[in-house]
Amino acid sequence: MIFIMRKKIQILPDHVALTIAAGEVIERPASVVKELIENALDAGAKEISIDILGGGLDQIAINDNGEGIPYSEIEMPFTRFATSKMPDDLYCTGVTTLGFRGEALPSIAAVAQVEMVSKIADEDIASKVEITHGKVVHKDRIGAPQGTSVVVRSLFSNVPARLKFLKSVGFESNQITQVVTQYVLGRLDVRFSLNIDGKLKLISPGTTKVVDALRSIYGANKATQFLSLDYDLLGQARVSGAVSDPSVTLGNRNGINITVNGRTIKNRNLQFAVESAYQGVLKERRYPIAVVDIEVPYSEVDVNVHPAKAEIKFVQPDVVFNAVKTAIRQALTGVHIAAPVGNQTARRIRVDSLTNSGELAVADLFSSPVEHLGGAVYQSDTEDRLPVLRVVGQIASCYVVAEGYQGMYLIDQHAAHERIWYEKLRAMINIKGLETQGLLEPIVVEIPELFEELSSTQLDWLMTYGFECELFGPNAYVLRGVPLIFGDQDPKELFLNAVYGMRSDQIEDADQTALLKTLACHGSVRAGQSLSVIEMQELLRDLEGSPNFRTCPHGRPTVLSFDSAFIEKQFGRR
Ligand code: ADP
Ligand code: MG
Repeated sequence: MIFIMRKKIQILPDHVALTIAAGEVIERPASVVKELIENALDAGAKEISIDILGGGLDQIAINDNGEGIPYSEIEMPFTRFATSKMPDDLYCTGVTTLGFRGEALPSIAAVAQVEMVSKIADEDIASKVEITHGKVVHKDRIGAPQGTSVVVRSLFSNVPARLKFLKSVGFESNQITQVVTQYVLGRLDVRFSLNIDGKLKLISPGTTKVVDALRSIYGANKATQFLSLDYDLLGQARVSGAVSDPSVTLGNRNGINITVNGRTIKNRNLQFAVESAYQGVLKERRYPIAVVDIEVPYSEVDVNVHPAKAEIKFVQPDVVFNAVKTAIRQALTGVHIAAPVGNQTARRIRVDSLTNSGELAVADLFSSPVEHLGGAVYQSDTEDRLPVLRVVGQIASCYVVAEGYQGMYLIDQHAAHERIWYEKLRAMINIKGLETQGLLEPIVVEIPELFEELSSTQLDWLMTYGFECELFGPNAYVLRGVPLIFGDQDPKELFLNAVYGMRSDQIEDADQTALLKTLACHGSVRAGQSLSVIEMQELLRDLEGSPNFRTCPHGRPTVLSFDSAFIEKQFGRR
């Protein structure tokens, strides 16, 4: 017989309960920083400075110029569930402050040494309290300016298990920087400064301008490449802020900051709304920088679903999701297209109208082929660029149909791809020529009789372009290598095409360009080839980034546009 001694049911001693509760709220040094910043913001601070030592484990010091705490209450914040933020009517009015559970300070104090100094406007002298592992060890009055400073030392020194979960000092410091960054972007009216191990990491000016805040984080250069958001779904949601131009991206999602009613939140769904607005615009695994400020009526949100309060629930999640996506899409597709510089010969094409009136409809097309932009008149600040396009589909296995802010676009897949390849090859040649891929076995290629033998210059060009070949009897060449980027193609056909390409142009000087054109053509998707959505997205993205995108190397147009006004008119909507 085994006797098990039954133990009495007991209530956990306060310090144990608090240490457990602390685990929920205070996961790592960055969580402490977050809670302390939120308290400072709730106290109405306009200036908050944060000093970190040793990844926050040695010290986290935060100073604010908020309303402060009177001497009579200075110990109270360290008692569990003590808060000055109790809403008058918890369930009806919603929550306007960041915290109101009264748990952060007691949780922090349970696992560290905390010193708080605070002064309110009505008192002449500040109050100071020191708490170690939950116990008040000292209380005093000292001189200090209005506001509150909290210093947290030896975090988790009494919870070795928690310490084990932490990563390097560098990692923890980085987490802290990210937390501060979010508040910098979330509260444009507040001046933040962050010092890590004695070095100034960032300082935000609190000018209320998104661009100024972005500049303090990403530097002046990137800050100019942002598009502002402004979308109002009357009475339901308002979206403001800024998102990066597709040319500015990060390798992770850390640049996506979302605030709801001034509170930085984490919400997978909204993060996805941001990313999906960029669908088809960014390369795989590249992410935008986005500052999305959402204002919704307080009655529409429930922020109290997670102890760390970063999660949020919406009464109508779809409405908010769509508002965010639309706001960003609108900003992105509104990318300004500067008029091409130089001679603008507006070309027009005639399109048979489907209306019964028998009247011919006319669509304005892109004007001036890019050749006109060459040379000195070209100015990069008025650079002609293709707007961000959304793939709609493919027709006739030949054209990509896309939507942009101006209307509908038709892209000739082969012509577009040729231009992309041409520019790519040209850039590579300018740098150092094309790399060669050796053939496993040399091949002898005979050139038809009517072609003259290649000149030595032409042979040199072929070398520059990655062909390894030499003369091998009358009008025959032995081919030992081909350009690496065309490594997957039939070597003989590729070589013959290159030779024909060079010879087809009569003017000697143009031979090299002819070779480029031929290879570009060779590398491109054909008309008649069906493309997946991803392939089409890639094609459009590459075309957006390509100089001279309006025409293929042979001068044929790559893109036709049909603006919305024209389409509306045809359908009798205007
Ligand atoms: P909560 O923020 O949920 O109320 P906390 O434990 O974070 O709980 O803080 C408890 C209380 O301490 C707050 O309600 C507030 O009255 C006071 N307090 C904390 N930090 C500050 C600060 N920086 N300035 C003024 N008051 C503060
Ligand atoms: Mg708080």
